[in-house]
Amino acid sequence: PVAPASNFIRNIIERDLEQGTYASRRWAGSPGDAVHQATGGPDPAKIRTRFPPEPNGYLHIGHAKSICLNFGLARDFGGVCHMRFDDTNPEKEEQEYVDSITESVKWLGFDWEAFGTSHLYFASNYFDFMYRAAEYLIESGNAYVDQQSAEEMRINRGTLTEPGKNSPWRDRPMQESLTLFREMRDGKHADGSMVLRAKIDMASPNINLRDPAIYRIKRAHHHNTGDKWCIYPMYTYAHPLEDAYEGVTHSICTLEFEDQRPFYDWVLEKLAEGGLLAHPLPKQYEFARLNLTYVVLSKRKLIELVEKQLVNGWDDPRMPTLVGARRRGYAPEGFRLFAERIGVSKADSWIEYTILEDCMREVLNASAERRIAVLDPVKLVIDNYPEGQSEDCHAPNHPQKPELGHRVVPLSRELWIEREDFMEEPVKGYFRLFPGNMVRLRYGYVVKCTSYEKDAAGHVTVVHCEYLPDTKSGTPGADSVKVKGNIHWVSAAHAYAAEVRLYDRLFKEAHPGQGKHEDGSDRDYLDDINPNSVKTITAQLEPALKDAKPEERFQFERHGYFVADSKDSQPGKPVFNRTVTLRDAWQK
Ligand code: ATP
Ligand code: MG
Ligand code: MG
Repeated sequence: PVAPASNFIRNIIERDLEQGTYASRRWAGSPGDAVHQATGGPDPAKIRTRFPPEPNGYLHIGHAKSICLNFGLARDFGGVCHMRFDDTNPEKEEQEYVDSITESVKWLGFDWEAFGTSHLYFASNYFDFMYRAAEYLIESGNAYVDQQSAEEMRINRGTLTEPGKNSPWRDRPMQESLTLFREMRDGKHADGSMVLRAKIDMASPNINLRDPAIYRIKRAHHHNTGDKWCIYPMYTYAHPLEDAYEGVTHSICTLEFEDQRPFYDWVLEKLAEGGLLAHPLPKQYEFARLNLTYVVLSKRKLIELVEKQLVNGWDDPRMPTLVGARRRGYAPEGFRLFAERIGVSKADSWIEYTILEDCMREVLNASAERRIAVLDPVKLVIDNYPEGQSEDCHAPNHPQKPELGHRVVPLSRELWIEREDFMEEPVKGYFRLFPGNMVRLRYGYVVKCTSYEKDAAGHVTVVHCEYLPDTKSGTPGADSVKVKGNIHWVSAAHAYAAEVRLYDRLFKEAHPGQGKHEDGSDRDYLDDINPNSVKTITAQLEPALKDAKPEERFQFERHGYFVADSKDSQPGKPVFNRTVTLRDAWQK
């Protein structure tokens, strides 16, 4: 393997390791030890990162970037990466998502159990700590209960150019806030009637520091804590506490959280002053989220595609979810290569979808066994081949990997070939079948085209040829006749007629939904859906493909990479999905 390319986050970690920033950190010494195994000694992990999805949807290709980054850093620097469910919002979270997320992370090749002990965490397990920390903020004069209405709060927050106004409740006695906060917890107040706010600065140029809310009342059942709580922490408060509680060192998030960093530092600093957390504290670093052309990477939009039945569920092979990509035949190694190749930067940009496809082609080219498939079949009859007879031809499973061996493909008098491998009247430079021309049947004989038949509508139905018996591939006479064309085929009597889905891009525009319509109205990403993103055909496959196991990947020679569908395949009757063509053939 090649050494990973340097990036600004790696530079920061290298500097921290050099300076021993986290060397003094102990397992014991912060409340986070409750979730670790306290040893009392220095933390043996040099760095800790985390991947913190909210279990409110399926992971997508953007998350893969974050997973490869966080788990990759831990691996490369002898650290630990925590798999943490950021499940502090009770409303949208479900066990179904938790299960799918853990499965996808493992599928990508990462394992929170690979670092000695398991590092799987649920932020909702820290509600007691978050609550205690909030009481401390009140007691230390750093938080207050605000009874303004949501509307008043919004107005008094000010704008980018106008400072905010202090709440009339801002300077209420500490004890009063503490009592009210406890009553909030005990269910004595209605949802939305009051919130706990950090007391920072209503005139701060950073709106996120204008006394952000840190706790709200919400009577909602939580998938982990049930009905124990009717108050829940806000995300911007919960997240830094989760990081600190778990002893995370480098908390890596996407750029939209840059403005939250001052609050992240503020809250952790206050809790360290109070002895609830210990230095060194985690630090937040932001990187550019992945934007990929021809794709949408937003849970909200992905949910809409599923709910409007524009796709067949979350794992539709056209979906940019990891479950969809998996069904499409994309390989985990391809995602890891992609993450490495696009790198990490601090500037937002769009990555071309073809870069991802090229990564998949690269890993599949190296790993996928070759098979023969005729996708658009027309009959080829070898008139001088005995009827009812067949013979074995030998096809290597991988041209660069002889150790993968070969398989037998039967040849007989009637074959299927690709319709495009025959032309009644050849165009210039066409070396395949046309009357009078010779081609090699790959792994078989040289044949000479003699004639063809058409139906009433003028479609070619049968091509006729004669074979040259001394020219079989792998025999001494193979090279006695030189031909320019080399075509693939399957024996009609032995072929497996299979359902094959030819997938294409789900969106026909590179930047779905961006820009305006001709009448000046805003485009919607749904306007840019590609109406021809899947074509289902019946293809003629070589017999060995009948035994393909779900998720087995192949290169269909001259066509591309295909996978046996994990859902719709039956034993002995696999259905195939096209993962990616051999070359980029995208045309709008
Ligand atoms: P979405 O914006 O699609 O709703 P999210 O950011 O809300 O996704 P989370 O479950 O909160 O989803 O994300 C978990 C982690 O994945 C976060 O650390 C987040 O920064 C990262 N992540 C999400 N989307 C992307 C992306 N497009 N590129 C890189 N990282 C991402
Ligand atoms: Mg989120
Ligand atoms: Mg988001």
